[in-house]
Amino acid sequence: MQDKILDKSELDAFLERLGKEHDVHAPVQNGGSVEWAAVDSSRDLVWDFTNTGVSPKRYIFPQTECMMRFRNRSDDPEGMVMKEEPGLTRKRALLNIRPCDVKAFRVLDSVYCQDEKTNDVYWRDKREKTLYLGLACKSPCPTCFCTSVRCGPHHEEGLDVLLVDLGEQLLLRPVSDKGQELVSHLSDAPQEAVQQAAKQKEDAEAAIQSRVDLENIMARSVLELYEAPMWDREHESCLNCGVCTYVCPTCHCFDIQDETQGEHGRRVRNWDTCMSWLFTYHTSGHNPRGSKKDRYRQRFMHKFKYMPQKFDVIGCVGCGRCTSRCPVNIDVTEVVRGMNEQE
Ligand code: SF4
Ligand code: SF4
Repeated sequence: MQDKILDKSELDAFLERLGKEHDVHAPVQNGGSVEWAAVDSSRDLVWDFTNTGVSPKRYIFPQTECMMRFRNRSDDPEGMVMKEEPGLTRKRALLNIRPCDVKAFRVLDSVYCQDEKTNDVYWRDKREKTLYLGLACKSPCPTCFCTSVRCGPHHEEGLDVLLVDLGEQLLLRPVSDKGQELVSHLSDAPQEAVQQAAKQKEDAEAAIQSRVDLENIMARSVLELYEAPMWDREHESCLNCGVCTYVCPTCHCFDIQDETQGEHGRRVRNWDTCMSWLFTYHTSGHNPRGSKKDRYRQRFMHKFKYMPQKFDVIGCVGCGRCTSRCPVNIDVTEVVRGMNEQE
């Protein structure tokens, strides 16, 4: 597909065109950090940021999501009446989403939509009604290690269009048919712009200093890694606060609850975390992950051993958020290095 070029002075016209069918959301400056919000003007957009504080996973997997509503009246001959919750009523576009955050949606597709039998309708509805316009990373942050986990600063997997910021202009690379249709009216990118984008990719990849090796993790059995002595000391400083899981674009634990008021109620699912003792607490009183060590190990084993083994995907895209947000400075790359280097 042919790369296109767009002058930033024409961005408002592009946004207007995009906004005819989509609610457009993008990273915007929010005090000291950059966070996701609805946008309708190019003035809202930011171009020099490493990544958003919180990932955009809530657009597909909201922190609290209503699954259905119900009414229960004892005098009603219909008895309990359940009503399906409608899906998204308007399409959505995630503009300037980072390639790692889009790759995370692909990783989670393997959990939520493996096949017809494990097809999460809530996830799929939003996935299919969303357009992904990615912004390539110019300056990865020191905690990024995307190139070690099958991703990268210009990674195109899961995108409709990849945008490369060239200063006054943007190079737009259509990746999907939907993306091709969206940018087809724009002029073809000149050769110098294509070369500039290729150079930027090379520089960004070279700027990523943090790397991990997963070869031994893949080669070892689950039991060998599970019983590795490193977990005995590794978990000690962890507070089990769960921050790492809430900011992570690939963490996807949830809990389902019914909330009722009088005769009305709704069933909701809320983000939960494997770091919480309550998450695995059985009504029998038994807790299969009752110790901090169990919960700490689960987080890393799930991402770097169970998911690759079961779905052939790594449950991490190397965004580095968990490392930069952890209150006690636990660095995911050091833990993975430890797992890989276990005797
Ligand atoms: S953010 Fe750090 S301290 Fe909190 S649960 Fe995660 S690893 Fe443990
Ligand atoms: S585990 Fe950490 S580095 Fe990996 S995707 Fe989650 S937040 Fe990003």
